[in-house]
Parts: sequence; C-alpha cells; structure tokens
Amino acid sequence: MKRAIAAALLAGLAAPVAAQDTDWVQVRREWNAPVTPFTIAGNVHYVGTAGIAAYLITTPEGHILIDGAMEESVPQIVANIARLGFRLDDVKILLINHAHWDHSGGLAELKRLTGARLLASAADMPALEAGSVDYRSDLGPFPKVRVDALLSDGEAITLGGTTLTTHLTPGHTKGCTSWTMRAGGHDIIFACSITVADQPLVKGKGYDAAVSDFRATFAKLKAIKADVFLNFHPTGFDMEAKRKRLVAGDKNAFVDPGELRRRAKAAEAGFEKELAAQKR
Ligand SMILES: [Zn+2]
Repeated sequence: MKRAIAAALLAGLAAPVAAQDTDWVQVRREWNAPVTPFTIAGNVHYVGTAGIAAYLITTPEGHILIDGAMEESVPQIVANIARLGFRLDDVKILLINHAHWDHSGGLAELKRLTGARLLASAADMPALEAGSVDYRSDLGPFPKVRVDALLSDGEAITLGGTTLTTHLTPGHTKGCTSWTMRAGGHDIIFACSITVADQPLVKGKGYDAAVSDFRATFAKLKAIKADVFLNFHPTGFDMEAKRKRLVAGDKNAFVDPGELRRRAKAAEAGFEKELAAQKR
C-alpha cells in the first residue's frame, strides 16, 4: 500500500532535468529510501532520508528543523521525529540550506504541519517563494513556501539555550546558507552544498556573481573550525559509514576535525576545473 502511494506520487512529479541522461524518477526513489533516525551529537539528530539530509536540533523550548528535503520525504521526516520521541508541533523554527527542489521541496508541507517560522537568506527568498530558481531553468519546480524572516551573515538563532550561528556561503545558490553550533562537546557545521552541480558559471548564463561567490565561500569555510562536518547530501560526508560505526559503539564516529577543510579544498578544485571546462 505504502509503496503504491510512493510510486503514484513519484509518477505525478515533474522530473528535474539537470543532466539529460539522468533517470530522475529513479534517483529520487533512491534518495528517498528510509534511514533509521539517530542522534549525531548532543541535541543534534538526523531525521532525513538516505540521500537527502534533514537535521532536528532539540531544546527544552522547542526544536529547530534544518531542511525539508524532497516533497515526497515529508512523511519520513515526520515519522523520524516521532520515532526519536519528539513532537512535531514542538518544531518552532525551520531553516533551509539552499533553494533547490531536493532540499526545499518538503518545506511548505512541513511549515503547514508544524506552524513553525521559516528563516532564510534574502538571496534565496525569491526562489523559495516562487518555487523555482529564476536563473536555473534546468531545475525542477517545488512547492512555494513563504519566508517569515530573513537571516543575515553572522546572525545568531537562539532557542532554549542552543545557539546557531548563520554563515552565508553563496555559490551553489545565490543565498546558500551554513550554520555552526556547539553540541555534545563538539563544534558542528551544517555546511551548504558547495558543488557546481551543472550550474552555468560563465557570465550571462547563470548568476553573474557565482564565480566570486564560490571562491569567497571556499575561503570562508576553510577558515571555520569544526570537529563535525555535516552537509545536506549524506554521500557528501560518508554518513552511512559513520552511522554504522556510531551504531557499533563508536560515539566519535562523526568527529573529524580535518574534514571541513578537506571537503572545501576538494570542492574548490572541482569548481576551478569545471569553470575552466565551461570557459572552453
Ligand atoms: Zn542544490
């Protein structure tokens, strides 16, 4: 029954066409495979799917949920929050790392279900509220969602004794946003996507500041200190391998103080290579 509903839902969704030869129905199905929710460190929990992350940060005064994943991921996120023993209507703040369908697609429904306020960067707000990115006609649409307040660089988000610091890290989108916080004795970063992902980089084709934004973001990320690197595609930080080690008893499975710098440097090299290829 559940499978039939998922298949029907998928069939009715407009497939994004970022890469012409990608079978997006299949990719979405794989990305939406379930993951047993788990605690990463302190009050930071994973409530996303196999391929798209969502993080729940719990406090005595309500919770913060980062990202809505895909439209079809919402029932899993809802179930995962309950499975960890938390209440959906205790989610007070919704955040979003960037306005692309695979991360923003579930936000509208999650906002309706929780009644939480959505905070987002000014530069990604238009895409969130339009349900599409005006400079990326190759990307699929997603349900429009209203932004309740704007986040600026360095802004602190505090709830129930927990504080997240906002870092604007544009490039992947105009308003790509990362956060840092302290949990379980560790400095944690929720890093926005830093891949090019088929984005046009040459002037006039994507958004004009993309190249300078990417370069500034790599420099910024390399200067941040973090023991735990998290981002919004689990394959981007080997989540499954770490989760297995965590479940097996290694409570520091996610701790790797060199990972942020390593990932940023690798992404920077990939970006420069892609830029050179696009200029040819
Ligand atoms: Zn993206």
